[in-house]
Amino acid sequence: MPTSLLTAGSRAIQAGADIEFQDGNLRPLDLEHSDTVAVSLVGAPYIPEIRKQIGGRHRLILGGQVLNGLVQKWTEKGVAIDGRVLALQHESTQQFVRLFGMHAYNGNDDSEFAHALGIRPGDLPDVFHTSLIPAFEKLDDGVLRAYLSMEFSFFLSQGCKKDCSFCAAVRTSRDTAGVLRKVGEQYRHMNDGINDKLPNVVEQDLRWLTENAESFNLQSLTLYLSNLDLFQTPSKLEQFADIVLALKKAYPGFQFRMRGLCTTESFVGACKDEPAVVRKMVDAGLYMLGFGIDGDPHAEDVKASIHKKFNTSENCLNAIRLSREHGITPETLMVFGHEEDTQQTMTGAIRFAADMQDAYGAVPRPHLSKALIPGNDGWRDPLNAELVEMRLNNQDLFYNDDFTCRASSITHPDPLRRAQVNEAYEKMTRLERATTLPLFPREPADPELTALHEYLNTGKYDR
Ligand code: SF4
Repeated sequence: MPTSLLTAGSRAIQAGADIEFQDGNLRPLDLEHSDTVAVSLVGAPYIPEIRKQIGGRHRLILGGQVLNGLVQKWTEKGVAIDGRVLALQHESTQQFVRLFGMHAYNGNDDSEFAHALGIRPGDLPDVFHTSLIPAFEKLDDGVLRAYLSMEFSFFLSQGCKKDCSFCAAVRTSRDTAGVLRKVGEQYRHMNDGINDKLPNVVEQDLRWLTENAESFNLQSLTLYLSNLDLFQTPSKLEQFADIVLALKKAYPGFQFRMRGLCTTESFVGACKDEPAVVRKMVDAGLYMLGFGIDGDPHAEDVKASIHKKFNTSENCLNAIRLSREHGITPETLMVFGHEEDTQQTMTGAIRFAADMQDAYGAVPRPHLSKALIPGNDGWRDPLNAELVEMRLNNQDLFYNDDFTCRASSITHPDPLRRAQVNEAYEKMTRLERATTLPLFPREPADPELTALHEYLNTGKYDR
């Protein structure tokens, strides 16, 4: 289910736009009768698909977190006036324009989004107060049934207070001028005794989905919660658990299965300080947690280099052990092969994943880190300007930045290093029950190899 696209569409419908949804994964796209096409980009590897699948015939609106990395924002300290130092805000859309052209609109910017659709920005409801029901109602039964029959993402919160350098999510980060921009987790609106006059959009959406699933004779919903760190804000998560538990009571026999991502730190903290919240989430249907281990838990230098020192080896072990004790299947989410990783630390990461599998049945979920993707620290680093330029000049290179893709001459120019990280990645993906199907890269200097790799990649999806 393209949840972010449905969120944007629902806001636009409520502001008066005439919207229709199409999903190229389910049916061939039919764009003949649309003057404007909006696409949600799930990540940088999808950038080249825009040109290939949509072409240049339509007014184009693009959304998705990756675009924020292509619109460079920075703050500069200005001159002191009357003792006050003014902060000057700058923005450059140059990268966005080079990739998508002068006539594409940045859908993440409300005024551009509204302008492209001919509606007033002020009429767009706040994202966190938006129900997706107006968009769900536009889906035909076949499509809705397909979405509800499989796991789908449920928009519950956005944002992470941590600042892991490789991560391109909405998170705390430093801009190109080095100024810290703090981000916290923000939930969609749920009634909290303070703002109860506003609609409880989380409850409304989940109830609507439950009723529609029942009408299709489905006995359960499987949700991938959007939270980047599920136990970062336990008080809000508890409100959500209460909503799910109340729905389970209202619809006897109906089940919710939920999984999500979590830092080891917040889960260990919640088990210690908020055990009731953990228990409620398990009762509500939480069955799996992906812990961002992201390398050898004992490699202190590597962790410091990726801003992940909070991921202590103790937390890594305890989070996996505690999740199993609560009946939650742990996943060792392993983004590794960072620039500072050595053969030894990569071997340590593989050993940890294997040990956790043996001891606690933890499911390995390996990813090979890439130094720069729009929105992460590497992309913003002026030392990488040439590498950024390569991608802006040849969009196909973005395929190679996929974290499930093997290392290539584009992402790892040194052949020895490339061989080392590929060997480690291969070993990790061969662990029993490992979820990742590694993609093969495009090599611009070798069109035949690229064609073979494209063929081998067909049908591979990340978990
Ligand atoms: S904790 Fe996870 S979501 Fe948050 S910054 Fe780190 S990798 Fe990104």
